[in-house]
Amino acid sequence: MNKKRVFSGTRATGRLHLGNYLGAVKGYLELQNNPDYETIFMVMDLHATTTPYDEKKLAENTKNVILDYLAAGLDPDKSIITAQSLVPEHTYLSFLLSSFVSVARMQHLPTFKEKVKQHPGSVTMALLNYPVLMAADILVYKASLVPVGIDQEPHLEVAREIARKINEKFGLDFPEPKRFATKGEYTPSLSGEGKMSKSVEGSYINLTDSLETIKERLASAPTDSGKGKTVPTEGGVANLLKFVELFEGQERCKMYDLRYTNEGIKYSELKEQLANAIYKELKPIQKRREEIKAKPGYVEKVIEEGAKRAKVIAEMTLKETKKAMGLI
Ligand code: ADP
Repeated sequence: MNKKRVFSGTRATGRLHLGNYLGAVKGYLELQNNPDYETIFMVMDLHATTTPYDEKKLAENTKNVILDYLAAGLDPDKSIITAQSLVPEHTYLSFLLSSFVSVARMQHLPTFKEKVKQHPGSVTMALLNYPVLMAADILVYKASLVPVGIDQEPHLEVAREIARKINEKFGLDFPEPKRFATKGEYTPSLSGEGKMSKSVEGSYINLTDSLETIKERLASAPTDSGKGKTVPTEGGVANLLKFVELFEGQERCKMYDLRYTNEGIKYSELKEQLANAIYKELKPIQKRREEIKAKPGYVEKVIEEGAKRAKVIAEMTLKETKKAMGLI
């Protein structure tokens, strides 16, 4: 039986946060540990160059995310783990695929509009092309399942459209990739507005944060008087309760809901317990991170071997696509 292929990645913009972990990495782990799937996970360093970045830190950031992946439980014996830029077939395929989408389609994507707002001085071709490169990242492995957060759904739609069009026109067999969702597919911001994101200070908790730091970050999360007729469904309190659900379970969340409409919630206690629950999950990851970091050259070896294995698949797809498109 042919195994279904899974592909996903995270931009190399620093350390992983709880949103990346709950929305993406937990899905990676579930699929990696299911023998029905062949899994490929990368750090997307080329994607990191599409918005302003520090070239002196990029390679280090890439390795740090690989280290976070390994610490969280990704296993090079079970998954291909590497950095995107080491497999140039992604960029080649991306150029070929760019004939199958219009400029207008790319300009209307919500993710593009958001980035334009964040970086009005850096609206480049690379930024516009981001979703096409992402389509190539997935299609170059003919992956059919992609564990990513819900924010990436518009990009997956682009990948599906491209797959459909290229299959129709050239008789190829690219699968239309579907999203693999996790419970934390939308991890909210600690600040009460929007999603948790690396680029928004005060919104995130990193996988490497100490108990002390987690407590400090939670302390700044906005709350209210703790009591009211109905439990808020958005804003700081709603987000805190979402974290309670994710780390302490639904029962505990229901208990706080009841308290809110009765005697009231004491947020200092809620935050203290939540911090402990988050740290309990992160502590073994941090321990493993230190152990892996102490092995000289280990991360580099994982990246190098992962790239070799990835290239075998990517070269085949590129060769087949070039031939179908009439290139020599
Ligand atoms: P960021 O938005 O912090 O820059 P990336 O864009 O590199 O993170 O996303 C890496 C992965 O993590 C993607 O699969 C993305 O969907 C997921 N992800 C990022 N933030 C969140 C979040 N707040 N909730 C759920 N998933 C998220």
